[in-house]
Amino acid sequence: MLPLTERTRLRGTMACLLSAALILQTAACEPRPRPTPKVPLQPAVFEPLREALLKSYEELFDEAPRLEFTAAQIQQMREYLRRSRDYCVSKYKDRVKEHDKNLERTQAELKRRTATLSDAERKELHCRIQNLRAVKSQAEVLANHAIPVAFENRQAKLDLIEKWPAELRQIQQEIASGAYHNRQYGDVKDIGFREVGKGQEQDVKLGEETVREMRQTGLMPPEVKNEAVQRYVADLAKKIAARSDLRVPVKVTVLNSKEINAFALPGGFLFVQRGLLEAAEDESQLAGVLAHEIAHAAARHGHRLMKKATIANLIYQAAQVAAVILTGGAATIGTYYALQYGFYGLGLVLSLDLLGVSREFELEADQLGVQYAWNAGYDPSGFIRFFDKMATREGYVNGVSWFRTHPPFYERMVHTRREILFLPKKDGLIRQSTAFEEMKKELAKVTAEAEEEEKGRPSLLAPEQGCPAPEKIEYTPGDKIEAICELPTS
Ligand SMILES: [Zn+2]
Repeated sequence: MLPLTERTRLRGTMACLLSAALILQTAACEPRPRPTPKVPLQPAVFEPLREALLKSYEELFDEAPRLEFTAAQIQQMREYLRRSRDYCVSKYKDRVKEHDKNLERTQAELKRRTATLSDAERKELHCRIQNLRAVKSQAEVLANHAIPVAFENRQAKLDLIEKWPAELRQIQQEIASGAYHNRQYGDVKDIGFREVGKGQEQDVKLGEETVREMRQTGLMPPEVKNEAVQRYVADLAKKIAARSDLRVPVKVTVLNSKEINAFALPGGFLFVQRGLLEAAEDESQLAGVLAHEIAHAAARHGHRLMKKATIANLIYQAAQVAAVILTGGAATIGTYYALQYGFYGLGLVLSLDLLGVSREFELEADQLGVQYAWNAGYDPSGFIRFFDKMATREGYVNGVSWFRTHPPFYERMVHTRREILFLPKKDGLIRQSTAFEEMKKELAKVTAEAEEEEKGRPSLLAPEQGCPAPEKIEYTPGDKIEAICELPTS
């Protein structure tokens, strides 16, 4: 195999030739300065440890007490991960700069020649600018969000290998002594009869107003128009809510957006994005996420945050962000969503603010969510398996907003696992159901239709019609981080 730098250079040349054939990116075909990695890569990493980091959280929780890595090996790996992350991030930041330079150059050319351009030449320049904006936005998402998330996930698994054995001994001691009953919300046999968020009914009006305003300002994606899918998700949420501490009726809407996310507004209004249903592999995974959102509503997290800012204010802020993105001025995560989904990803910018996702509230919702899923008869580890999938695979781009301001992965996973170990043992916990599989079949139709529609929809950030589709050179969903970063694999 060729040395890394050589392969990178060849790939660059190939991409250049291909795009030259499309007469898209002639400016990019000048000899590219070879990027110098800011941090050197360590070629030899401790192999068994590297392989261990590719395992799932569930496997590692089971295996960590038997793994025998030395403190020095762990330290070496920690250093390697840090360097790799910095290397990879700086590489994509360089690409952003490069795209930016090309963009400026192309825009200058457009300005200089504007009076003399033929229609075809103008269109070609418009298409080129559009394409550069798209690739720049992709590189930004990778540098600022996807790559850090992927490395944080690895880091969390390393922490788990290092710290879980001692943590587990502590948990076993607490179980043996009965001390675990005294933890916060340790009274799981009284779910539904205890008070976790007094005054939930007062949130209904606030929730209704928020939903109305989000619809009016266009911040809410359209609903999925498939009865079977809507009914299935609503029934599942109701089943969990009935076995939770929520005392107001839960109202569920499935939104037609491929983002992997769900959010709860005050008063029991639950919104589930189509992408989340696509990503869930079994009913217990979906139950875990719905239970987490129900917990936010039950504990009145929205209400507790709303005291700081009124809805009108939040919606005004979101609308302003929207305005900046729509004029092509902002290059943020929102730009990426705007590109991918039209306007809709912005609903998430808003909802995260509304939820004010904070460390304390997230950990509380994780704990209560696991309790509710368990109490409704679901395997509570579904939440961990879903989380792992999100952090490891395509989710880390399409589900980026889900991770944006959440607490550190290691803390969340350990906190959740601890709660699962404290729950009374139950037989016959559900993982999968035929109803879930039936829903997936219906969902496939919805997805196919939405994708077909998306093709024809004029995008707000692609005002020039009839250009070749924007390049997707940066990543393919499912790519491992090693491939994206072009790290040596052996
Ligand atoms: Zn949450």
